[in-house]
Amino acid sequence: MKSYLTHLECTYCHATYPADEVIRLCTECSKVLYPRYDLAGARDALNPDELKNRPANMWRYFEVMPVLDEANVITLGEGFTPIFKAERLGDKIGASAVYIKDEGLNPTASFKARGLSAAVSKAKELGITKLTMPSAGNAAGAMAAYAAKGGMEAYVFMPKDAPEANQIEVSISGGDLTLIDGLISDAGVLSRKRAAEEGLFDVSTLQEPYRVEGKKTMGYEIAEQSDWELPDAIIYPTGGGTGIVGMWKAFAEMEEMGWIGPKRPKMYAVQAEGCAPIVRAFREGAEFAEPWENAQTMAAGIRVPGAIGDYLILGAIRESGGGALTVTDDEMKYYMSLVASLEGMFICPEGAATAVALNKLLVAGDLSPDENILLLNTGSGLKYLDVM
Ligand SMILES: *Cc1c(COP(=O)(O)O)cnc(C)c1O
Ligand SMILES: [Zn+2]
Repeated sequence: MKSYLTHLECTYCHATYPADEVIRLCTECSKVLYPRYDLAGARDALNPDELKNRPANMWRYFEVMPVLDEANVITLGEGFTPIFKAERLGDKIGASAVYIKDEGLNPTASFKARGLSAAVSKAKELGITKLTMPSAGNAAGAMAAYAAKGGMEAYVFMPKDAPEANQIEVSISGGDLTLIDGLISDAGVLSRKRAAEEGLFDVSTLQEPYRVEGKKTMGYEIAEQSDWELPDAIIYPTGGGTGIVGMWKAFAEMEEMGWIGPKRPKMYAVQAEGCAPIVRAFREGAEFAEPWENAQTMAAGIRVPGAIGDYLILGAIRESGGGALTVTDDEMKYYMSLVASLEGMFICPEGAATAVALNKLLVAGDLSPDENILLLNTGSGLKYLDVM
């Protein structure tokens, strides 16, 4: 298989950069870089029917993945997670076509595996050996796991109230864990300082170009697993936003390759009432989101007070005709047990937030009962036992 990666492009000022150098953000405007591909070449090389013969993981889309040499791919089998019809949940809340993509079945039990498999593999290809990251939880565990598999060093800076599972998974896979008395933004400051001092490469959400390429494969899978027919709406628990902007990128790439038409799902971002910078900015009609003060929620994955990709998230939501809304921690807890008792899935609080949001959107009349709606369960509830 051959990757059709050509270069990097700034998502804001459109400056371009070669893809064979170590770079994090646009050096002109400090905004997010996206990998770009020769999509005409990829289109000629890969007929989507041929995907059926490929391994059931996210690297099946190799032509549009950023690693050039297959030997550099560090995989634990991430991706190609199942989509289940949530029949009993749908009956309960009055919707006839509710589906859940279960990202809790990924290695390290969250969809962070996708982003980190892509980023750590590409880092290895570029000769990087030491990685760092501030993380409220699942990203750290995933980074440590892929770094271990790739024989690389992982440094993690984590708020000390992060779920215990995330702390343990970093340590057990040999990561260097620093617990701090503060928020994810404080962990970021420390991580950047150590990165500068010790030559560590920071793989924070959207602050290097490749994690988003792992997350975008959710968009490819949703299309492939639904016979190239996208749902009417996708509800996504939004922290740094890599998943929502990644899927949005995937849809554009697939349309350019002729795999899907112009129809797009309405994209809904869900955040916690105690940390909702994107929801606030959406309601205010702002292009960027102001950082959230005193962020608080049990859902560590969406406890992200400021997202560098805010303009990309807000752009995708608005272009899609979707929206943004908040849910409370109590609502998340209630829906964790509701989904477990109706569907047999022990989903994470962030995933439960999407089911709460669906109910609210139905009640408000923003979504109708017969629409085809996909919820992303982004991780396993088993990682949150101590915070429940
Ligand atoms: C990180 C995380 C999220 C948020 O993902 P982003 O792509 O950063 O918005 C949601 N749920 C879980 C379980 C997470 O770990
Ligand atoms: Zn730029």
